[in-house]
Amino acid sequence: MVIQRTEAVPLYRDLDTRFANAQKWIDSREYCLVRIETDDGLVGWGECWGPIAGNRELIEEYVAPRLEGEEPTAVERLHEDLVFALRSSYHSSVPASVVSGVDMALWDLYGKSVGTSVSRLLGGRRREGVRAYATGGFFSDVETFAELEEAVASEAEGHVAAGFSALKNKIGLSRHFPEWGIEEDVALVRAIREAVGPEGRLMTDANHGYGRADATRVSRALSDLDVHFFEEPLPPEDVEGYAALNRGPTPIAGGESWAFLHEFDRVLSANATSYVQPDLTSVGGFTSARRVAAAADAANVGCLPHVFGSAIALAASLQLLATLPGEPMLEFDRTPNPIRDDLAQRPIENDGPTVEIPDRPGIGVEIDEDVLSRYRVDR
Ligand code: CA
Repeated sequence: MVIQRTEAVPLYRDLDTRFANAQKWIDSREYCLVRIETDDGLVGWGECWGPIAGNRELIEEYVAPRLEGEEPTAVERLHEDLVFALRSSYHSSVPASVVSGVDMALWDLYGKSVGTSVSRLLGGRRREGVRAYATGGFFSDVETFAELEEAVASEAEGHVAAGFSALKNKIGLSRHFPEWGIEEDVALVRAIREAVGPEGRLMTDANHGYGRADATRVSRALSDLDVHFFEEPLPPEDVEGYAALNRGPTPIAGGESWAFLHEFDRVLSANATSYVQPDLTSVGGFTSARRVAAAADAANVGCLPHVFGSAIALAASLQLLATLPGEPMLEFDRTPNPIRDDLAQRPIENDGPTVEIPDRPGIGVEIDEDVLSRYRVDR
């Protein structure tokens, strides 16, 4: 069995209502999927982080010819060969999202070729379901702060009513609303805490929107609200700043903006976070994620994968979560996303506070081809 064809599958959909985190307004969804087909007709799927542009060209023009004729079960060698080739071509800007999408599709193919789920290939399943936390509480187009406060609080009540026992919201308002600052950010978390009561597990995410001083002030204020972790307080380059914050009262999390083991090794060596959050679509796929998880385990740091993708990334993340030690949580994005909700024939949904982890070959997703062609934008 050898690889016959590798293609990029770009999906796009405008959203009816825009929303924002500290980084950006989100008014559409776009994904660059990777589809790898073997000579005996097996198909593996992966997903890249980020825009279609760039990912698509690299997959079709750079990766596809290199994979043709290779055995897809040689996943780790193909991963290393690709990183090595990309490093010589792009030096320090190795496109980790491309490596990730390809790596994920290869693991999916490997599992399908032996009739086994990726979680079993990665060393074995520790659980059949995982606690999910609802990611929401984004910013919206509002006139007054009271309006936003009420919107995030009532959204949080909705997540609790849907069975979730853990929630995450967004802070860093001043990036889009210059009249509001860290007092309003903390007020948003407080409004959610009051809405869900003392039992719910709360996390908050600044999407690297702060400098060190504001991040320190917010971290201090969050400790009074029993915040489980404070995510991406600072730009990812400022590892020393993360380390200083991580000595404070609120545990620090981060990782969606770091890739490959060597970047996480620097973070872990610096004691910069209490949780690492590798994203399978950007860390370097399963190959890198399992290394990061092992390094985190050795450093006594939790691994909680970042997930903000289509049904492919979500399903893949569940396979990784099945294998992680301790009590990991699934990041379960609750923002509007028809591509995430509809792409898999069997939608991935929560049952109360948990999400079931499929044990089907590969990453366990069967694509709905009608949905795929509805959102596909290259033809
Ligand atoms: Ca985040």
